[in-house]
Amino acid sequence: MPLSTVISRCIVHACLFTIGMFLFLPATMAKGTVIQDTRLWSAPDHTRVVFDLSAPVKYHVFRLSNPGRVVIDMQGASFKSSFKGLSLPDAVISSIRSGKPRAGVFRVVLDIKEEVQPRSFLLKPMHGKPYRLVIDLMRKQKSRPVTAEQLRRHKGIVIAVDAGHGGEDPGAVGRNGLKEKQVTLAVARALAKSINARPGMRAVLIRKGDYFIPLRKRVVLARRAKANVMISIHADAIKNRKVRGASVYTLSEKGASDKVAAMLAKKENAADAIGGVMPGEVADPMVNRILADLIKRDSLNSAQVLAEEVLMKVSGVGPIKYKKPKSARFMVLGAPEIPSVLVELDYISNPSREKLLKSPRHQEKLAMALMDASASFLRRQGLLTKDKPRVHVVEKGESLWSISKLYGISLDRLRGANSMKQTQMLHIGQRLQLPQS
Ligand SMILES: [Zn+2]
Repeated sequence: MPLSTVISRCIVHACLFTIGMFLFLPATMAKGTVIQDTRLWSAPDHTRVVFDLSAPVKYHVFRLSNPGRVVIDMQGASFKSSFKGLSLPDAVISSIRSGKPRAGVFRVVLDIKEEVQPRSFLLKPMHGKPYRLVIDLMRKQKSRPVTAEQLRRHKGIVIAVDAGHGGEDPGAVGRNGLKEKQVTLAVARALAKSINARPGMRAVLIRKGDYFIPLRKRVVLARRAKANVMISIHADAIKNRKVRGASVYTLSEKGASDKVAAMLAKKENAADAIGGVMPGEVADPMVNRILADLIKRDSLNSAQVLAEEVLMKVSGVGPIKYKKPKSARFMVLGAPEIPSVLVELDYISNPSREKLLKSPRHQEKLAMALMDASASFLRRQGLLTKDKPRVHVVEKGESLWSISKLYGISLDRLRGANSMKQTQMLHIGQRLQLPQS
């Protein structure tokens, strides 16, 4: 082939390629996207890497093995950031580096310690956040055999403790920099500790660290834990920095109790957009249906009782903003069978309240109030007694003898309290009255 033909073909290809690129990319992208910041959040089931971008970017994510890597190629991007602030190594990522494999491509390489399934999505600017490219490295779920200790601990009342916000979503931020997500996690941990110290009660922390969980997934996690009660913990913010006090909310299927509750639900429900949820991410088809479902539920009435208890107990720790619980369509309260409440502990926008919310002593006081409220709600529901349980539900493998030993009640008293004959058999699920001494 003569040299002139090769050159002319190259020019044609180059022109076509260039035209193709510019036709494809919107005006903002043609100028080049700048990666302004990078953040990393470690959750138990995945690690999330977030790139703040000056404009949308055309990107490609792929895996390489030996050694394991996840590679992100961004076309026409440049880097005005640093990986220095990232908390590495993390459970999945051992190191992060960047390079330019070819002209016009910026490459980020995540060195990984275990096999992961990467998924990625772009978020549009919203709530003060710029364009964001989100890379989730999903860990393989390891199914561990259930131990006897775990089975034992699974008995009793389960309280789902939900620390609002997390990871990409800081929630409200105080004037002195305290983030709602920090307060909610600290109070949630203190609450879980006090619940676990009480016989017959067990806490399930929905969020265990600084990472984001979509609202519907929080509901799924509470349902999976077979929670009897769910408390979602938050702290509010408002322009007027003098405003202070706690408020408590329940789910309303018909609409908000008033404008204030509607506004708050809108604000709290925006967490998914800020925290970053992959479009079309379905956690549980049933939970997704719940808010459209207008069936009247017992759990809503129970939630009202729980909300009143919470309000009363929290009023012993500090001021109250609204004397009665309010209701609206809070997505996080959508578990159909679990009485759920959302509590705004105080206003983080009020500097003196922010200072208190930061104090571990005050956090503990708030946690104790939530603990007392849960216990007194459970007592009112007949699920918890001050001393011994009043009812035992028969499980597989149990006999009247084993139950009498469990509670230290003689066979005769147990039979007498349940009008049972000597030869009468037990059946699974049978409710036995336990006589109180
Ligand atoms: Zn909140």
